[in-house]
Amino acid sequence: MTRESAISKATVYYDEGRLLEDIKRRVAIRSESQIPASRAHLTTYLSEEIAPALASMGFTSELIDNPVEGAGPMLIAERIEDEHLPTVLTYGHGDVIRGLEEQWRSGLSPWDLVQEGDRYYGRGAADNKGQHSINMAAMASVLQARGRLGFNVKVLMETGEELGSPGLRAVCERERERLKADVFIASDGPRLNAKRPTLFLGSRGALNVTLTVRFREGANHSGNWGGLLANPGIVLAHALASIVSPEGKVLAREILPQSIADSVRKALQDCPVEPIEGEPSVDDWWGEPGLSRAEKVFGWNTFEVLAFRTGNPDNPVNAIPGHAVANCQIRFVAGTDPEALVPALRRHLDAQGFPMVQLALSRKSFMAATRLDPANPWVRWAAQSIERSTGIRPAVLPNLGGSLPNECFADVLGLPTLWVPHSYAGCSQHAPDEHVLGSILREGMQIMAGLFWDLGEKDTPARPSARAA
Ligand SMILES: [Zn+2]
Repeated sequence: MTRESAISKATVYYDEGRLLEDIKRRVAIRSESQIPASRAHLTTYLSEEIAPALASMGFTSELIDNPVEGAGPMLIAERIEDEHLPTVLTYGHGDVIRGLEEQWRSGLSPWDLVQEGDRYYGRGAADNKGQHSINMAAMASVLQARGRLGFNVKVLMETGEELGSPGLRAVCERERERLKADVFIASDGPRLNAKRPTLFLGSRGALNVTLTVRFREGANHSGNWGGLLANPGIVLAHALASIVSPEGKVLAREILPQSIADSVRKALQDCPVEPIEGEPSVDDWWGEPGLSRAEKVFGWNTFEVLAFRTGNPDNPVNAIPGHAVANCQIRFVAGTDPEALVPALRRHLDAQGFPMVQLALSRKSFMAATRLDPANPWVRWAAQSIERSTGIRPAVLPNLGGSLPNECFADVLGLPTLWVPHSYAGCSQHAPDEHVLGSILREGMQIMAGLFWDLGEKDTPARPSARAA
């Protein structure tokens, strides 16, 4: 059997609608980790969908309780052919962001996979059920074509990613020996653009921080007190304006990286950010002056306001509000010390005359930033495999713009981390009308079948001696 036959089996699996059936069944499970009442669905997803699918491929699996009280279970599975063969660790998350059912366009539902042209709508279709479904099905195609994989596989699937992956780090630390591997290959997040196969090597970190100005309890009549009482909404707006300029340049320079490494700059030159139809157009007047689009989103840090509230926007009254709050987020690249970010903001606000603005981390933990060196031999290996399968040179991003719990794999387990995304930035993940593109699902099957086929060949970075022999 050949590489071509593995890829053709994977393509047929999509063309016959079987991958879509897998995704449809999985989307129907309401595994919303943010909703405590949906807790049972998290276990269902792992025990009734993932474990049986893996068992049919000869995996043994174990459902493990999350060490964090109340957080969803995880699944660890493995298929060991021969301890001398290379071992891949793969990962996925079975939970989804809340369904937001009432906000979906009519005719669509978060819990049913609905086709419109090349789009397949459903919660989790892109993040992450569709993506790990591709990887499992592509692996099965290789197993069928070759009769064995030619490598060992370990699987770690969690059900708390949308909560910030509680317990994932602890489980990786505890199960370090059991999860030992040569390389990490998984799929989540978007491609650089819908048409370009993409390999990313890490992720930016994220830190959510709340800025609050609280002057007094309750509101006071604006006619009787306006001009006498300081308005917390206006003060907070000025504080935010001191952090980011009207053109989106971060003015609190201490929260930024000092520079962009040459290897990163070089890799990003090959990654033009060109939105396609359905994606927003880029505001080139916004952001750090002098940086390319790719450098702004993959090579730099940002400060965003996610929500801003003072008074009651739904029902304004003629009063000076007592307080104002802004939920903000810093996304940062590897090399930024996350512990230093809030103290740096504090110094900035104090220096700008805003000691009354309180800063608080709005999540207990934050996601760290990671980045595999683009010069790592696994990167070239994977890029060549993808190009061989698709005829397209993949975009190699030093890191994703978004955030993933990649530090568990890169830092705790010490693995070279290769992410092969099967979605695109316009997929509305985390919003109503989440969808995947059929064209990317199909190509994703081919890419992953090619990668898994190649992993079972002699010539991998895990087996350099085989090449020398
Ligand atoms: Zn997500």
